[in-house]
Amino acid sequence: MPTCQHCHQKWTWKQTMKTTTTLDTAYTCPHCGEKQYATKKSRIQFSLLILIPLAALFLNFFNIPVWFIFSWLILGSIVIISLFPVVLKLTSTEEFFF
Ligand SMILES: [Zn+2]
Repeated sequence: MPTCQHCHQKWTWKQTMKTTTTLDTAYTCPHCGEKQYATKKSRIQFSLLILIPLAALFLNFFNIPVWFIFSWLILGSIVIISLFPVVLKLTSTEEFFF
């Protein structure tokens, strides 16, 4: 679970989902209100997680039944949502990709 680098409090799964449902790259800590950012490493790991459900779209080319692709997409999304707070690591300073 993500830990705030300012107050060192752990965020719960629910707090993480609520805090990160924003287009902003800065997440406000539910405990101390300080701005926190996802580390570069956790953002890369998250991008890799997104590839799991997206891989289902490639299965489309191999005559795989639609119900299978559909269940993969749903399961993949559930996996992403449940793993996101585990993968997310916080930092007090914003790290840029490049
Ligand atoms: Zn905090």
